[in-house]
Amino acid sequence: MNSVTAANSPALQPSVRRPRAVDGVIAGQPTSDGAGVKLTRVLTQNLQRRLDPFLMLDAFGTDNPGDYIAGFPDHPHRGFETVTYMLEGRMRHRDSAGNEGLLGPGGVQWMTAGRGVIHSEMPEQHEGRMEGFQLWLNLPAADKMRPAWYRDIPAAEIPELRLADGTVVRVIAGHSHGTAGAIEREQTEPLYLDVHLPPGGRFAQPLPATHNAFVYVYRGALEIGGQAVPVQRMAILGNTPGSDGVELQAGADGARAILIAGRPLNEPIAQYGPFVMNTHEQIVRAFEDYRAGRLA
Ligand code: FE
Repeated sequence: MNSVTAANSPALQPSVRRPRAVDGVIAGQPTSDGAGVKLTRVLTQNLQRRLDPFLMLDAFGTDNPGDYIAGFPDHPHRGFETVTYMLEGRMRHRDSAGNEGLLGPGGVQWMTAGRGVIHSEMPEQHEGRMEGFQLWLNLPAADKMRPAWYRDIPAAEIPELRLADGTVVRVIAGHSHGTAGAIEREQTEPLYLDVHLPPGGRFAQPLPATHNAFVYVYRGALEIGGQAVPVQRMAILGNTPGSDGVELQAGADGARAILIAGRPLNEPIAQYGPFVMNTHEQIVRAFEDYRAGRLA
């Protein structure tokens, strides 16, 4: 375990003096994807501009194999990155670049589709709980056609920060309280934290005011800037000028939530299904390349 204890290092716990307010609380849309996997689309297409550089967040969590067993058979992607974070269950990934990996509880799969990849994501279990998230992170225009890239990050390789009050922060991407995450990206500077707060716990995370940010609560309840954020809700954080971060306050039962932030690209977004480019012409080209077998 790559664990860092900041309990006796006050310097590693920068305070937030002007915390952000909540702009809105979103329930998400129940839907299904792949070959019939039930999920909740929390970050939907109409929020792509507001939450640039993030394009999508799906939350899935079920004890019923019928909700997930069909999985996501072979399908293409181009122009962005997918980040899959498992809380429970196992999924096997295979792709046209020859990568294969088994994603397990607490693990992350970070895939850069770039110019194109065809992959499958299939459950490696016939019963039991399957729970986690898939986030889509946009690529800058200049990087959309870069070669595909892929990395499996097992649970034990995700840095964990343990604070004095019992708060545990899993740092998937970016930095928190002096701990570097498993992944960094220069242009969008994504921050991806899984924050586990004890009852009544409080966690402060510095954030540049210009970065778009949101929090999804998956256990317990939070209060952010005086706004109640119940379980299975996403809080969109305001980009209040002069703000320097966010404060998460857990309720009496504690809370678990993912906190995601990034620097907006401010580039045109053209999406059709699994392709996210900048123009309609590039989308047409993606379909042509896919049909002609040039994505694999
Ligand atoms: Fe996919």
